[in-house]
Parts: sequence; structure tokens; C-alpha cells
Amino acid sequence: MTFKNLNELSKFYKKKRSERITSLEKSGFLKNDWKESLENNLHLSEEIADSMIENQIGTYQLPYGLALNFLIDGEDFAVPMATEEPSVIAAASSAAKLFREYGGFQTAVTERMMIGQAIITNVPDPEKAIALLEENEIDIIQKANQAHPSIVKRGGGAESIRIREIEADQEYQTPHFLIVHLQIETLEAMGANIINTMMEAILPFLEELTKGKALMGILSNYATECLATASCRIPCEALKKGSLSGEDVRDLIVLASKAATIDPYRAVTHNKGIMNGVDAVVLASGNDWRAMEAGAHAYASRSGQYRALSSWQAASNGDLVGELTLPLPVGTVGGSISFHPGAKMTHHLLDNPDAEKLESIIVAVGLAQNFSAIRALVTEGIQKGHMSLHARSLAISAGAQGDEIEKTSQLLKESKHMNLAQANDLLNEIRKKQ
Ligand code: NDP
Repeated sequence: MTFKNLNELSKFYKKKRSERITSLEKSGFLKNDWKESLENNLHLSEEIADSMIENQIGTYQLPYGLALNFLIDGEDFAVPMATEEPSVIAAASSAAKLFREYGGFQTAVTERMMIGQAIITNVPDPEKAIALLEENEIDIIQKANQAHPSIVKRGGGAESIRIREIEADQEYQTPHFLIVHLQIETLEAMGANIINTMMEAILPFLEELTKGKALMGILSNYATECLATASCRIPCEALKKGSLSGEDVRDLIVLASKAATIDPYRAVTHNKGIMNGVDAVVLASGNDWRAMEAGAHAYASRSGQYRALSSWQAASNGDLVGELTLPLPVGTVGGSISFHPGAKMTHHLLDNPDAEKLESIIVAVGLAQNFSAIRALVTEGIQKGHMSLHARSLAISAGAQGDEIEKTSQLLKESKHMNLAQANDLLNEIRKKQ
């Protein structure tokens, strides 16, 4: 960890892009030889883009910004985010600023164990098959590891099996399924390819043992054994807002948390707010955001009902305490991480964290994002902050350029209606006067 001069980042939002890059360098987050890549807007070359996907015809860009003020497990971070949504970065940064005065975010991660699953049908004698699978656990693990020896050499690999049975279901007209989970340590990788290679390699042996038919062998994105938790704590006095006392705001946040625990319609929006932050960092770090999304929402339903992923409670001394747990099987190697300029920049700006630390950063951002959204909702409403940023998007959509963007969005904020038609009218008026 190198020393960071956070003063260099003050009033970051007021600076021009070139000034932000310079202050980022002065702050110690951006090393000198990385500056050029940022100045070149993290250019993804034609050659790399064409080799990443099929039928490539262009590159689709997103803004890349920094959520500031994060203190996570005692370490300072400026967290890169790739997002198209206004106010996400401002909201994360403002929550992080508030919490850093009270110790920031504390995190804990479980052992990073990924799950591969083989689904087997038409098993004539499930009881016998299960006994045979258990007897042959060591051989199954060995065959899996032989299929991907390099991860074993690195200190990881398949470690154990777990067998699940799902009985035939008349309502859904599903047959009996015998499911074999392989628990695999993929170290710094998310491990999709490692796991899929291993699973496909053991299918013939599983068929031999069970006398059944293997339907498929693939990782499960429901990574229940790769969890990250962030928590934070703040005294009520720090929550005071306008005419509302700190206790009032705390109690409203706790109540909002309860509403999202019990009502799936609210829970989905609550969790979407968390994923605003999570996805933006997952994407910026070159990780598979579809995998994190799918896993997070399944985890939100683990009780049988879709619920809030986070909880906010009043501690016995009156403080507000927040906690968020997510499955976060992110990697620091693999996929496009080592060659995508944006992903490389993110890992650089975060001081090349290992996968566990990256999990900690992401879950802390999710909790910060959640706090800002709920606090705004139960106090001034989210439209106030959101609409002022939205005004800029409307101005740009209306065709405003250069100075016109600021002028149009200022007038929009002052006008009764904030919509595209109004932005068009205001822009026309500005142009007439010029
Ligand atoms: P890769 O296969 O690209 O990379 C992982 C490889 O990196 C390892 O096999 C290993 O190869 C190498 N490596 C180098 N250093 C380490 C280290 N310290 N720890 C672990 N591995 C290391 O990626 P993943 O297997 O992680 O798969 C992720 C990709 O798969 C993502 O792009 C994702 O989008 C995609 N994907 C996702 C699916 C899903 O989620 N359902 C399905 C299919 C694909 P070696 O040891 O041989 O050097």
C-alpha cells in the first residue's frame, strides 16, 4: 500500500477531466506510466475488440468515473465505476464521505469456494448411486483436477463433492434429478472456464457410477460459498437532515429496511440500488456482471421469498448499523481483465487488489450506494438530486453542446417541467439570444 494524498482529490467534481487526471496522479492513486492510457480515454484497440467477441462492428463506450472517500478496512480507495446512470457516483461518494468519519466500512469474506454442478437424470437406483458417488469422492476429485492441472499447481483445484437429490415434481412435470456439486478453489480467477472444463471431464465417470444420463456439467453462478459482507456504523447525530432529527432519519432508514425485507416489490428496487454500485465496479474491473447479478438476486431469494440484500438497524447505543452480504465470485485474472484497458486501469487504481480485497471493495460500495438511496428516499426524496443530474442528460439529448449544456440544464432546473420538450425549447431560446 502506498501513501495517498487525499487532499489532492478535494473538489474533484469541480475540476476538468485533465485536471482530475493530474490530481489523481498527485494523490498517488495513478502511477505516472498509466496516465497516458487514461488520457487516451482507455482506448480499446480494433485488434483487441475484434478478438473479444464475434461479429464485432464497433466499441460501445460508457463513462468511467471515480467514487471517492472510501475507507475500507482502514485503507483508502478511489473506486473506479463504469456506468451510464447519473448520480450513482455522487451518491456512493457522499455516503463514503459520511461514513469515513466513523471508521468507514468493515468487511469479511468467506473462503472463495466455487461450485460446479453435474445434473444426472434417469438414475435407476438413486440410493445406490449416491453411495457409490460418496465412495468414489477421491477419484472424482482426482479426475476433475487432472482435467485442469495448472490450477492444482497454483494451490487450488477441486476439493470435495456434495450430492443433492430433487424428487420428481408433478406440478412442474420434472423428473428425478441427481445433482453432484464439485467444490472448487479457483484462487484469483472467477473460474468459469476452469470449472466447466472439470465438470465436463467428470461426466462420463459420474454416468458410469450412477448408471444415469448426464444432462450437463457447468459452474453454478449461485456462489453461496463465496460471500462478502460489508458493515458500517454511524451515530444518529450525523444523520440529521433539515427539520428531521438524527433519530428520526435513523428510524426512517430502519423502517425502509424493514419494508424491503417484507415486500418483494420494494425489495427489488432496494436491491437494484445496491447493484447500481456493485455492477459499476464489477464492470469496471473486467468481471462478469451478469454472473454477479444472477447470483445476487438468487441470494436475495434464499429464504423462499425475494428480500432486501442489506439490513439497517438501530444499535443498543442508538447508532445506525448497516450490513450487506453478497455472493461475489469476482476474479483478478481471467476473461478480459489482463488486456482490456479499462479493466487494467481499474486494477491499477485499486492498487492491484487480490480477489478477496476486490470483493471487499465491491460489497462496501454496494452498502454505501444503498445508504444514499434510502436516506434520500426517506428524507428529501431521490428526485431532487437525481433530476439535477438528469437535467444535463436532457440538455445533451436536446443537442446542447459545449457551454450550452450547462446553460440549458441550469434553466431546466429552474423551470416547472423537466423533460425533453422543455430542454428543446430552452436550447432554442439560448441559441436565438446568441
Ligand atoms: P479464464 O479461463 O480466462 O482465466 C483463468 C485462468 O487464469 C486460470 O485457468 C489460470 O490458467 C490463469 N491464472 C493465472 N493466475 C491465476 C491465479 N492466481 N489464480 C487462478 N488462475 C490463474 O477465466 P475464468 O475461468 O475465471 O472464467 C471467467 C470468464 O468466463 C469470464 O470472462 C466469464 O464471462 C466467462 N464465462 C462465464 C460463464 C458463467 O458465468 N456462467 C460461463 C462461461 C464463461 P493457467 O493455470 O492455465 O495459467
